[in-house]
Amino acid sequence: MGVRAPSYGVEQTTPTITEGRPGPQAPLEPHGEAPDVRLAGVRKTFGEVVAVDRVDLEVRRGEFFTLLGPSGSGKTTTLRMIAGFEEPDEGTVEIAGRDVTGVPPYEREVNTVFQDYALFPHMTVAENVEYGMRVRKVAKGERRRRAREALAMVRLEGFEERKPGELSGGQRQRVALARAIVNRPRVLLLDEPLGALDLKLREQMQVELKRIQHEVGITFVYVTHDQEEALTMSDRIAVFNAGHVEQVGSPAEVYEAPATPFVSGFVGFSNVIERDGRRFTVRPEKIQILEPGEASNGLHTERGRIEDVAYAGMITRYLVVLDRGGELQVVRQNLERSSAEALAESGREVTVGWRPEHAVAVADGRHDEEEETR
Ligand code: ADP
Ligand code: MG
Repeated sequence: MGVRAPSYGVEQTTPTITEGRPGPQAPLEPHGEAPDVRLAGVRKTFGEVVAVDRVDLEVRRGEFFTLLGPSGSGKTTTLRMIAGFEEPDEGTVEIAGRDVTGVPPYEREVNTVFQDYALFPHMTVAENVEYGMRVRKVAKGERRRRAREALAMVRLEGFEERKPGELSGGQRQRVALARAIVNRPRVLLLDEPLGALDLKLREQMQVELKRIQHEVGITFVYVTHDQEEALTMSDRIAVFNAGHVEQVGSPAEVYEAPATPFVSGFVGFSNVIERDGRRFTVRPEKIQILEPGEASNGLHTERGRIEDVAYAGMITRYLVVLDRGGELQVVRQNLERSSAEALAESGREVTVGWRPEHAVAVADGRHDEEEETR
């Protein structure tokens, strides 16, 4: 059967375990090369608060790697330890195979883009982008050339002489990006860089960021709390919960084979049902509502009743309460169904079915497992 064993043990927080199932984005680097970023047993507390709790992570060369999790789960603190703005209480940070624990930010091969851009308002766009090079006394001609190149990369040719106040939010974000890539750092750290933009612009910038990353070939470590953004942009995702990493995997792995109920619930909508003492999750779009008399064709089927119907234009959402206990959200595309037809299905007794491999066993979460192994 395609159902995973439910127990992952404590090693589940170590990324190498989930990497045992290579996804479509399998290794980006030749075997043996040091990862661009490696965190080993990294822990950070602020007084009583454990912000980051013994995190292990490896980011490969050229990867778009996302730290995804709810607010307060430790993403920013993790990023700041990679940047060198915070030092871990325990554990080590390596960049390109070199232990940089204790090394100041400006001596690390990284650069950071913050959500609030942090541009100098009194300087022009060109001066903002050249600032770092001016501090390091790069010759003027060289500075100009490289700034021009970086601004072209973010599609801001012709904006050199403007001040940040004369730009839109999206354009200011591009300047911040140009300033960060102008020195071609090995790793670019981005903390919710699109958080201040409205949805439309955000979606445009997601595409732009991917293009830029591709063109400059810099490793991106990207922080977001937006699961859809993480799924569309990333090569791999680390899902954070309360200071620890619940799972590391490609978007498809994290979405289709969530390792814990937390991941299942945070990344996409989760249906969790219990059968024979085990917990399973099935995604709403993987569940079919069979027509009366329709053959099940190898699907796992259960009887239930449609309790609620929500018509949402492109799709309809059904809430099906199962005879054997539990409930499922089911999503169907409205190929031919009208809203009236969809809504009329409320209260119907139905058979629902899904392919056995789409029911994924979930562990009970890391802390419970630790209890078990003691
Ligand atoms: P995220 O970026 O995922 O929202 P953070 O890394 O910013 O999470 O924060 C993780 C936890 O650490 C939170 O509980 C936050 O309040 C706490 N924290 C972060 N920075 C500090 C700080 N400088 N002082 C005290 N507590 C902090
Ligand atoms: Mg944050």
